[in-house]
Amino acid sequence: MVLRPDAVEAIHNETFRRALKWYYAVLLENYPAKFWIARAIEVNEKLESLDLEGLWSLHDELAKEFESLWSEVRREDITYGRFVSMYRPREPSFLDVKIEIAKRILKSCRFCEWRCGVDRSSGMRGFCRLDHRSYVHSWFLHVGEEAPLVPSGTIFYGSCNFRCVYCQNWDISQEHPFDGVEVDPRRLALMQKELALRGARNINHVGGDPTPNLHNILESLKYLDVNIAQLWNSNFYMSEEAMKLLIHVIDIWLPDFKYGNNECAERLSKVRNYLEIVTRNLLMAVNHGDMIIRHLVLPNHIECCTKPVLRWIAENLPKDRVLVNIMDQYRPEYHAYQYRDIARRPSAKELEEAYSYADSLGILWRDISR
Ligand code: SF4
Repeated sequence: MVLRPDAVEAIHNETFRRALKWYYAVLLENYPAKFWIARAIEVNEKLESLDLEGLWSLHDELAKEFESLWSEVRREDITYGRFVSMYRPREPSFLDVKIEIAKRILKSCRFCEWRCGVDRSSGMRGFCRLDHRSYVHSWFLHVGEEAPLVPSGTIFYGSCNFRCVYCQNWDISQEHPFDGVEVDPRRLALMQKELALRGARNINHVGGDPTPNLHNILESLKYLDVNIAQLWNSNFYMSEEAMKLLIHVIDIWLPDFKYGNNECAERLSKVRNYLEIVTRNLLMAVNHGDMIIRHLVLPNHIECCTKPVLRWIAENLPKDRVLVNIMDQYRPEYHAYQYRDIARRPSAKELEEAYSYADSLGILWRDISR
C-alpha cells in the first residue's frame, strides 16, 4: 500500500518512535510481535488435567520465561525471520495456557470488572449480552486512527460492557450487537491475515469493546501466521485476570481514559469503581507494551474529568513513553440529548483549556491525532 506523505512523516516522527519503541520495532525492524514469543515457550504439562489454580501457577512461571525471551529479542536485535528459525511455535505453549485459562474463566465470566459469574460457554449472557460467540461488524484498513497507527487493521466487535449514554457506535455496541458476522478463532485469524497482507500496521481490536471476546481473540493468535503488532483498543474495564492474560500478547495499548471521577462514570457510562479499575489497568499495561491514551473532551467536564485525567497521567505514567490523544470530536449522539451538560459539542475555549493544561503538565499530545 502507498502511504500518504503525512503518514510517512508520522512514521519518522522521532517523538513517536521514542515513545512507541516496541511497536515501531515490530513495524519497521520486523521484530516478532509478542504473540510469537508467547507461542515459542514450551509447556510440558497436560493442560486439561490442571485445575484453574494450577493453570495460573503454571502461567506465572511461564511469564518469567516470556520476560526473559522478550528481553533477549530486544537485546540481541532478533528479527522475526531469525526468531521463527530459532524458536518454532510449541504445542502446547504459553499461549495455549492463556487460552485454556480464558476458556475456564468463560464458565464463570470475569473478563471484566462486572464479574457477572455466568457460564457463557453454556449460552448464558452477562451484562455485555454475549455468550461464548463473537460477532464482527466490520474489519477494514482504518485511516482515521492516530498518526502512528494508520493504516490500522481494525476489527469492530459487537456489544459492550459499558452503557455510555453518548456512545458514537451505539448501533453495534448497544442496539444491534449480534448483527455482525459470527466468527470463530480461525476465521478471526484469517481476517487479521487479510488485513496484514493489505498493508495494516497493526491489528486493532475494538468494538463496542473487545474484552468480552478475549477467549476468541487469544485463540485466534494461535492460528495467525503473519507477524503483526496486536493493539488493544478498549474502555480498559478489564479484570485483573484478563489483564494478566493480555499483557504478554498485546504490543500496543489504546485505552480510553474518559472520566476523572466515579460519579461521572456512573452517570454517563453506568459503571462502578471506574477510576480504581482503569488506573490499575493503565499501570499494569504500561509496563508491558507501548501506549496511546485517548481522552475525549466532554463539554462541561473540563474540571471534573479532563484535568484530573491529564493530571493522573502526568503524575503516574512515564511522560516520555506515553502519548495522549486529546480528542475534540465529541458530538451529542444516542441518548446524549437527555443530559443537559453533554448536549452540545465542546467549545473552542474548553478545548484550548484542555490543550494548555496538557502542555503545562508536559504531556506528549501534539500531532498525534489526524
Ligand atoms: S465480559 Fe464482563 S460483562 Fe460480559 S459476562 Fe463477562 S464479566 Fe460480565
